[in-house]
Amino acid sequence: MTRALLIVDVQNDFCPGGALATARGDEVAGKLAELLEDEAAISGYSHILATQDWHIDPGEHFSQQPDFVDSWPVHCVADTAGANLRAPLDVAKIDRFFRKGAYSAAYSGFEGSDEAGVLLLDYLTEYGIDSLDVVGIATDHCVRATVLDACRENIDVRVLAELCAPVDESRGDSALTEMKEAGAEIV
Ligand SMILES: [Zn+2]
Repeated sequence: MTRALLIVDVQNDFCPGGALATARGDEVAGKLAELLEDEAAISGYSHILATQDWHIDPGEHFSQQPDFVDSWPVHCVADTAGANLRAPLDVAKIDRFFRKGAYSAAYSGFEGSDEAGVLLLDYLTEYGIDSLDVVGIATDHCVRATVLDACRENIDVRVLAELCAPVDESRGDSALTEMKEAGAEIV
């Protein structure tokens, strides 16, 4: 079994002070930074991967009157500070970034591709990664969509719930239940 850590969308705009902040975003970024400093804890991961919401012109994903379900305030615009990885997470600790959503909404990390255009699933296949530990933001949106896609691809998935932050706590809990029912292990 080859397991990678997949950090979903821990970006400035999804943390306190950002355009679309989650209450626990900084808590998650801080705990993840600690985890990545812990050589013993991360020795079981073949790769440390991260996704980024990375918007150029995502159409109706952005709205001046967002419903916070299908439309959102402007966030994570490509090459802006809001789209950067949240400190104290260190870019140098990430083996590969997968960016998604340039021209449309993209909740799942499996819609993301690296700088060379390689899709996340193709990357996992190339390196024989058959297991993922998924963490990040937001539990009820991009973590959820990423985990459900991973389950569909028959990847062994664990969701590290303490290292995930929801937009909405009760929807976050529902999303964890849904992920579990889809086959993910919630730890
Ligand atoms: Zn977005």
